[in-house]
Amino acid sequence: MAEVRVRFPPSPTGYLHIGGARTAIYNWLFARKHNGKFILRIEDTDTERSTQESIDGILNGLKWLGIFWDEGPYFQSEFANEHIETADKLLASGHAYKCFCTKEELESKREAAAAAKGDYRYDRTCRNLTSEQVAAKEEQGLPYVVRFKVADSDGTVGFTDKVLGRIERAYDDIEDFVIVRSNGKPLYLLCNVVDDIRDRITHVIRGQDGVTNTPRQILIYEALGAEVPEFAHMPLTLDLNKAKISKRKHGEIVAVHFYQENGFLPWALCNFLVLLGWSTSDDREIFSREELIETFSLGRINKSNSVFNYRKGDPKFITDPKALNINAHYLRTMPIEELGPLVKEELIKAGLWEDSYDDEKKGWFLATLDLIRSRFHTLKDFVKGGLPYFSDDYPLDPKSVKKNIKKNPGLKEWLPLLAHRFEEISDFSKQETERVTRELAEELEIKPGILINGMRTIVTGLPAGPGLFDVLIAVGRDRVIERMKKAGDLELF
Ligand code: GLU
Repeated sequence: MAEVRVRFPPSPTGYLHIGGARTAIYNWLFARKHNGKFILRIEDTDTERSTQESIDGILNGLKWLGIFWDEGPYFQSEFANEHIETADKLLASGHAYKCFCTKEELESKREAAAAAKGDYRYDRTCRNLTSEQVAAKEEQGLPYVVRFKVADSDGTVGFTDKVLGRIERAYDDIEDFVIVRSNGKPLYLLCNVVDDIRDRITHVIRGQDGVTNTPRQILIYEALGAEVPEFAHMPLTLDLNKAKISKRKHGEIVAVHFYQENGFLPWALCNFLVLLGWSTSDDREIFSREELIETFSLGRINKSNSVFNYRKGDPKFITDPKALNINAHYLRTMPIEELGPLVKEELIKAGLWEDSYDDEKKGWFLATLDLIRSRFHTLKDFVKGGLPYFSDDYPLDPKSVKKNIKKNPGLKEWLPLLAHRFEEISDFSKQETERVTRELAEELEIKPGILINGMRTIVTGLPAGPGLFDVLIAVGRDRVIERMKKAGDLELF
């Protein structure tokens, strides 16, 4: 089999959308699986809408995801001459013709067809002009478009899509489509094929919104005598109301940078995006990079649209809960040495990093991360949920204060008393702190839970967390004692 060559050809008119990222990931996986090449091509021929900012955003987004290309980025605009030459070639070989019909003429024909409730298709007026007639019109300087000459027969053009199966279109249903505008600019349909031929693309893996172009593009390949690649059209990603996900409707959550800025791990996002439109027979959800390369196949891409399960304005979930759960899985199971630097970065951004963590306290820092990560979903959670560990300036959750402190005014004395007991133990361990706590509860004839919940509220400010005696060890003896002693002075009771 010839070398597999696939491409991701985004138009740089906005940020990298998660749908685009998914297309890139599918192409990349397919290339990796078959030891092929993944080519990045920036389709920047729409000069009015293409921006450098968007190009940078796309490149940075792919790099952040870890989706690296083997060739490119190529820029479509650099091949403008080749696109024009190809149109000329199609004219010369009789596969295309110049059409001088004016906009007004076409418009009135369209209206007439609409009035007769018929389908409008260009009536091929100019297809039969003689070369003298064409020359005369050109002489007069009349503007023209170039149209592709679709076979005038009963046949069909078809292909076997790797996802959708056999697709056929009758020539009769295809109008002689425009390949070059009257301003001399070739259209996407043509440029895309010319570039795919030059880049020797073997498999075109793209969204189902491209499927209507494919029969016309195949006609171009055939007219140029080029080999037609395989096609695989992926399902679209819709929201819960079955609308296409878009920035206008859903905001930043459709952009890759949103996930980068909100504490997602790049591979976790890739893993989630792959599942939007592809699955294994056992609906497995977690795949390492290597496992996915091994398992991925075009044949298991779903035919039906995938659903991005996001309720705008739901304060509980900043995005699809599945994305959060997959991220949580990686966050909680990745090697702690790899997690350390990522959390460090977040803490630096939040102004919570102390340089001394680096060498002396590294062991403590990693052990603390390991303890607290079991409840976290994103890297951002380490800032809020890690505050009592990484700072002495942390708020007390008002609900917990009400429930755990105010209802037990005795804690005003009991917590400082327990702090003294902690000072007396030589081994500030989980077992010892727990023993002393239960002993004091017994002496005071109260439930240990009163002391335990009171301590959690005072020492961490948080409503919940890992086992309290683990928490005490992580926060550290001196800070625990100081925080509990201070409890007596707080205006909480
Ligand atoms: N530039 C096109 C897009 O972004 C490429 C479509 C294709 O893959 O052929 O939609």
